[in-house]
This record gives sequence, C-alpha cells and structure tokens, in this order.
Amino acid sequence: MSFNIDLSYIRSVIIKLLPPTAQLTRLEFEGPEIAVYVRNPQFLLDQGDIASHIAKLIKKRIVIRTDPSIRKPEKEVREYLKNLVPPEAGVESIEFDEVLGEVVIKAKNPQIIEAKAKQILVHTGWRPKVIRAPPMRSKIFEEIIHGYLANSDYRLRFLRSLGEAIHRDVLLAKNGNNFTRVTFLGAAQEVGRSAILVETAESKLLLDFGLNPGRGLLSNAFPRIDLLGIDPEDLDAVIVTHAHLDHAGLVPYLFKYGFKGAVYMTEATRDLTTLLLKDFLEIAEREGSEPPFTLADVEKMLLHTITLKYNVVTDIAPDIRLTLYNAGHILGSAIVHLHIGNGFHNIVYTGDVKFGKTRLLDRADYEFPRVDTLIMESTYGATEQPKREEAENQLLKIILDTYNRRGKVLIPTLSVGRAQEIMVILADAMRQGRLPKMSVYIEGMIHEVTAIHTSYPELLSKELGKRLKNDENPFDFETFIRVEGREPRTEIVESSEPAIIIATSGMLTGGPAVEYFKLMAPNPNNAMVFVNYQVEGTLGRRIRDGAREIAFVNEKGKVEIIRIKMEVYSIEGFSGHSDKTQLLDYIKHMQPKPSKIVLVHGEKNAILNLSREIERKKRYLGIGDAIVLVPNLLDSYTLAYNI
Ligand SMILES: [Zn+2]
Repeated sequence: MSFNIDLSYIRSVIIKLLPPTAQLTRLEFEGPEIAVYVRNPQFLLDQGDIASHIAKLIKKRIVIRTDPSIRKPEKEVREYLKNLVPPEAGVESIEFDEVLGEVVIKAKNPQIIEAKAKQILVHTGWRPKVIRAPPMRSKIFEEIIHGYLANSDYRLRFLRSLGEAIHRDVLLAKNGNNFTRVTFLGAAQEVGRSAILVETAESKLLLDFGLNPGRGLLSNAFPRIDLLGIDPEDLDAVIVTHAHLDHAGLVPYLFKYGFKGAVYMTEATRDLTTLLLKDFLEIAEREGSEPPFTLADVEKMLLHTITLKYNVVTDIAPDIRLTLYNAGHILGSAIVHLHIGNGFHNIVYTGDVKFGKTRLLDRADYEFPRVDTLIMESTYGATEQPKREEAENQLLKIILDTYNRRGKVLIPTLSVGRAQEIMVILADAMRQGRLPKMSVYIEGMIHEVTAIHTSYPELLSKELGKRLKNDENPFDFETFIRVEGREPRTEIVESSEPAIIIATSGMLTGGPAVEYFKLMAPNPNNAMVFVNYQVEGTLGRRIRDGAREIAFVNEKGKVEIIRIKMEVYSIEGFSGHSDKTQLLDYIKHMQPKPSKIVLVHGEKNAILNLSREIERKKRYLGIGDAIVLVPNLLDSYTLAYNI
C-alpha cells in the first residue's frame, strides 16, 4: 500500500517530464499543492497539457510559478494587459502580489482573461489570478482580497509549513494500522453548535465548529472540546460545511487557543463566514457582551483558510483526502467526503442539506466514489414541509392582505440564503404583476450578502446563474431600497405607505429585525412572517409558539413590555433543510450505500422519529443491515479499526 508520495519522488517525476528548457529552479509544498518554480514557462504554450499530466501521475495539484528574475516590471505588465485584454472583459483593477508572483486582475467577465492565462504568464512572468467583479459590490470580498495581498508573506510561510505537515511521514497507517473514530462535540440531539472530532492513527480534524444561537454565550452554547482534553494545537484541520454560525461561528476561537492548521471551505463560504463573524463581533460590542474571540482571530482564520471547489480531491493530512460536494442548503454549502487511509474508511457528512431544488440552488449531490459512514442532519426528521409553490403563494397572500389594509410586513430572515430567496420571489412577483409594486427595505447586512451571491453565479442554480451571466440581476428590482444605519428605521415604520421590510436576525436574537419588531408590533395592520426555523430558546421561537407579551430591558435599563397586536405567521416551506421525505429520499438515492448512518443536528423528537423511520424502511431505502446511530453529546464511535 503506497501511502504518501514524498517530495523526492515528486521531484524525480517532474524532472523527467518537464522539458529542460523550462529551467526548473525549485519545488515547494504550498498547502495541498506543489509549487513548481521555473525560469522559462514557454513550455506551457508549446506543451499545454504537461502540467496536468504531471499532476495526474503524482496525484497532486501543481501550480507553475516563475523565478522572480523573469518577472517584467509592473508598468510593462499593465501595458501588455491593456493591449491583450479586450474591453468586453471589463477589467476593473490590476494588483501585484510580489511574494507569490501573481498579478491579481478583477474583471466583469473573468473567463475572457482566463482563456489567455498561459499567454500572460509566459509573456510577463506573472501568474494571473482572475477575480470576478460582481454586479453588486461586496465590501467584505474586497477586504479579504486586500488582506491576502497585505499578508502575502505570512500566507506563503503558512502554506509551506502546511505542505510539510500534510506530507509528513506516516508511522502507523503505513503498516496498515489505522482506525477512524468520531466524537460528537455538539449538535447531538440538538440543533446548534455543530462540531465533530474525527481521529485516525495519524490525524485529528474537526468537521464544523459552531455555536448554539439559542444559548447566548453560556458555556453550553459551545462545542465541549475542552472536556476531552484536546489541545487545538494538535488539530490538523477544520472543515467548515457552510457559513451559518451554528457551523462556523467558533472557528476563530480555536485560533485564540493555539490552532495552527488549515481551515477548508468553499470560496463563497469564506466570504459569508467572514461577514457573519464580523457582524457577530459588532453585535456583541453593541450589547456590551464579551465575545469569545476577537477580530484578530478572524483575520488569522482567513490567512489559514484554503478554499476548495466542489468535486476536487485534496490531501489535507497524511492519511486523509477531502472532497466537497454541493449541499443545496445555502450559497457555497458543502457535503464533506473524507477518504481515510487509502480507502480504509470513507465518511460522508452532509452538514445541512437540501435534497430538493430551491430558487437559489440546485439540489444536493448524492453520488460519491465510496461511502462507509453517513453522518446526516435531521432538523426536520419529524416534519413534512408544504410544497415551495404553496409557501410562495401563502407569502404573497399575506403581503397582499397587509398591503390592502395599508400595513407593513416584517420578514425577519437569516441574512444568508433565505433573505436572497425571498428577494428573488418578491422581485419576480412584482415583475410579473402578482404583487403591486411596493417598497422593499433591505438592511445593509443582507445587501452585502446578496452582493456575495452575485459573485458566484457558478454556485447558484443553473437558472439564476444564467440570468446573472446575461447581465440580469435577479436579486434586484426598482422598488428595492437599501437601508444604511439605524436612523431611517422609525421613519420607515411610521410612513403611511405599505411596505415590506427584510431584516436580520431570522430568529429575533438581535439585529435590526428586533428593532423593527418593537416598532411594528403594536399596530394590528402590520404583519410579521417567519420564513425560517426558530431554534428553542430564541425570541422568535417564543413568539411563534404564541407569546403575545414580550419584556425588554430598554436603553435606560428599565423593563418595557411590548404587546404584540400585529399578525404573526410562520411559513415552513422555504426551508433550506430537507424535510422528512427529502431526508429519506436522500438515503434512497445515495450511491453507494452506507453501512452506518449517524443522525445529528435535530431536536430529540425529530432525530428519534427519523431514526425509527429509517429502521422501518431499510428495505425500501436499499440499505440492507445498515446500523443507525443517534449519538449523545460527547459520544465516540470507532467506525473502523485495524490495530
Ligand atoms: Zn445551516
């Protein structure tokens, strides 16, 4: 069994296959990739596929870099690009990363420049890195890109040391000794603080590391890694399935306690997570509570983040390969596939998964090269959701009724995903005349998230992706108004015009939605519509469950009672989660079939119900004698061993 391919083998393959004219100067590990430095990249034009041929042989991704001596001066490169790139590419900015030898080009149509990438590298000595300039500007995206440019030195040092760590010599696993053990640090018979520790003979990693939004900052809002005596410094990696805080919210906290490894996620998840973490810090500051990490920890997380595309296999530890698949839940959300010990064990972890098409995304992927254990979410393990169409009609009817009595509709939403889904529905309904044209106020944070959506058309549903690429912005309409700052809120609520307000947070745990709620609740002409799951312990859940008097401590420290006279609705059908039927369908469609199914991320009732259903329908689901497990908090399962 050949485990790891070391650098000397890689070197011998590259020296043999690379034409001598390339003038190889050095090879470096660069995170999971191998950087090949050459003095003459001309071979890329003459023998185009040689790099991918080498990559196939050594089973590593390679990146061709240039020796600094051949890089042309910046001015000359700008001039060259001006002549080479046609205006329809829509170049917005050109920046240089001296450390990596990259020219970072931001353009409206990146594919036009990507088609000329080799040519640019050969003629300028700079490797082009092309970034999409979205129709809506995302502040956070620009901040991230500039953070990388400004810390290029640190980033390169980190990537090299990560490369050494990923390719370190394996001891036990080399002799066929291995085990796979998982421990559930959170999301065990609860929704919130998703975190799973995966241990093998050689490596340790975390799948998600989130917080429980219903529990403030109490210690039981955290995954209890502390109780196991695991030192964050000993972890190889954290894999983040998606940007929601119950999955990603405490990753920076690991850095505060010495984590030095890599964080893997999709590019969209990186942007969205950064935005949500910064917002979390701002809210904590405003409320005077002490957050569990600082902005510096978030920035460190970014410098340790490796972004991956769906369906690309990546080495992340000496005995673990990672592949991300579309999870259909929110933009950039991923199903994790872990290939451990050359096929010794294979885990699929769904994160949050939608096995059904939404306005935003195509349904989750369900075919994998190998599967032994499936770890699946169970949020709606006991519930069926109404059809999406019905949910949309219900929403439009509530809006229309409220409009007719000249009231306002508050839609508290998660800033990521649901808000954009609702925006597309409202924009299309007004475009098609199914709703009268009316003002839709969108809070700043949601606007920013929407901008990130427009940056990744390839991650959106085929239909939305196509509309975006055709220069249409499906997230916008002439009556949509972006709200900046807090002042306009009272004015919006007090105006006599009917209107719709989309604001965070979706569970009324804070943010502008709570401010609007306080202002709008006393007026019976108004309506509030919940369009997402309400976690136990949140204000949203209490109101959804019937509370009609809410006590708040106001700015003067006095208790203030709000009586809810506005109408309150909850529409289930918009969920980014699969309902019971879709979860069962997912198992039925999954290829190949798992021999163990572990259920997580559901309240006790939902998870136990789903477990019973799976047991009952084993034959229908085609899973034979598969074992179904429902872990308690801190339960560990040894999924496979040979020791
Ligand atoms: Zn989620």
